[in-house]
Amino acid sequence: MQVPFLADLVSLVDPTSPWSFLNYLRSRQRLFPFYFAERFHLPRREYEHYCSWAAERLPNCRFGAPVSAVHWDAAEQLFRVTADGREFAARNLVVGVGTEPYRPPAFATLAGHPRVWHCGQYLDRRSALAGPQDITVLGSGQSGAEVFLDLLRTRSGDDTRLRWLTRTRGRPDGVLQARAGALHP
Ligand SMILES: Cc1cc2nc3c(=O)[nH]c(=O)nc-3n(C[C@H](O)[C@H](O)[C@H](O)COP(=O)(O)OP(=O)(O)OC[C@H]3O[C@@H](n4cnc5c(N)ncnc54)[C@H](O)[C@@H]3O)c2cc1C
Repeated sequence: MQVPFLADLVSLVDPTSPWSFLNYLRSRQRLFPFYFAERFHLPRREYEHYCSWAAERLPNCRFGAPVSAVHWDAAEQLFRVTADGREFAARNLVVGVGTEPYRPPAFATLAGHPRVWHCGQYLDRRSALAGPQDITVLGSGQSGAEVFLDLLRTRSGDDTRLRWLTRTRGRPDGVLQARAGALHP
């Protein structure tokens, strides 16, 4: 992760909360190994385990429940939230709907093309990349970087040609190519 473990679900707001990353470590009997390792930036997989650990213990936590409407009930002084065809009442509401995948207009005609994906689908469709021997990642953002790194790690050793087209100052030609795990500007 790019932020230290203190930026967990709770610590900076309430360091005494039982949902802290440190409490997660203690429940897994990993507090001392973590302390001795002195690595404050967690691997993403560990952060995912921590979030799963917290979510499993929150009985009102629901996933895959699209919210289709929110109304303010002035008489009751609460919000009425419609999700999955059911109505929930809430005194307080936090909205965190994230961003939509963005596809630049120049690529509009490629929407739905079986060989062109937005990186938001990468993890779901990664296994489909087992066959192709020539893969190009477009985009200078962190997602592009992480996809390219993942491909480098998983495809090094075979003869796959990987390209990353990116607008970074360090690479005026904007092309990084990799073959068999070695990087070539
Ligand atoms: C590759 C990558 C790496 C990153 N690494 C880091 C990092 O190391 N450290 C860091 O601090 N940040 C990192 N970030 C940024 C971080 O992921 C985002 O800032 C953060 O996830 C934004 O949180 P959010 O809750 O606003 O949106 P999201 O995490 O996108 O969550 C929004 C959720 O709302 C759901 N949703 C949308 N509409 C509805 C609806 N109508 N009903 C129900 N649910 C709905 C969506 O399905 C989604 O699950 C990274 C981002 C990327 C892309």
